[in-house]
Amino acid sequence: MTASVETLLEALPYIREFHGRTVVIKYGGAAMTDESLRDGFATDVVLLKYVGLNPVIVHGGGPDITDYMQRLGMEVRFIEGVRVSDPATVEVAKMVLLGKVNSDIVGRLGRHGQAAVGLSGEDGALFEIRPHERADDFGFVGEIERVSIDVIDHIAEDYIPVIASVGVDSDGHSYNVNADTAAGKVAAALCAHKAIFLTDVAGWLADPDDEGSVRSRATVSEVEAALGSSAGGMRPKLGACAEAVRGGVGSAHIIDGRRPHSLLLELFTDAGIGTMVTPDALETT
Ligand code: ADP
Ligand code: MG
Repeated sequence: MTASVETLLEALPYIREFHGRTVVIKYGGAAMTDESLRDGFATDVVLLKYVGLNPVIVHGGGPDITDYMQRLGMEVRFIEGVRVSDPATVEVAKMVLLGKVNSDIVGRLGRHGQAAVGLSGEDGALFEIRPHERADDFGFVGEIERVSIDVIDHIAEDYIPVIASVGVDSDGHSYNVNADTAAGKVAAALCAHKAIFLTDVAGWLADPDDEGSVRSRATVSEVEAALGSSAGGMRPKLGACAEAVRGGVGSAHIIDGRRPHSLLLELFTDAGIGTMVTPDALETT
């Protein structure tokens, strides 16, 4: 058999399993900074829709926001992987996420053959937001109290929903929301089959300085136990994986967005890649 036929046959059981299922994909970081990776990502998502999955994209845009803030001479600061957000920072984040990143993704998906619709937390009252419990440290960083999935479900019937992780509270103040956190909430609210987080490392690393130390599997309890000692952007990502799986999502995956077509490799090959977070094994009595 030729390799391409084998590849298709390997994919078949996965295509069958995933048909009609919702997959929430958190897009950001490395897979967003390189033109060919951006295009590869769009091709992959379009393919998912064509083979009958229901892809929902939640994106950040950290590097772009930082780039524009620096162009404007603004100070960029992170605490525990969360961007410290004064009102001016939120304004720039909102403009960059919606005006640039979101519209780029929507346009690209359209050009590859699947029409997409861009949304922020305000559209269709998607996110109900309250200030983060550590507002004194983080500023206008919002926590999502509730995800109203109606608008996603309506759009997903015909289009690919592309969600920017910003929103407003009931008083009309804008908030920056960590995109991993938002993706975890959206996945849980949709009771998605999978939540997949594309990042700029090979997965969750046992030793952050050793790319070879990827933990290929972890249970949700193991992830929760490691949260306190996790650093940087991995902390909200692991928190989001735990939230998704506790909320009923079948599995959460942290995969290498630098690798071309990492989404397809994760979904349709036996090997899988990166880190898979699963529910705790059922106790056997
Ligand atoms: P994104 O959200 O775009 O994927 P982040 O920078 O927010 O990117 O999060 C990924 C980063 O988390 C990695 O580049 C790495 O520097 C950092 N990190 C900290 N601890 C770990 C760890 N244990 N495993 C993997 N990455 C880690
Ligand atoms: Mg991040």
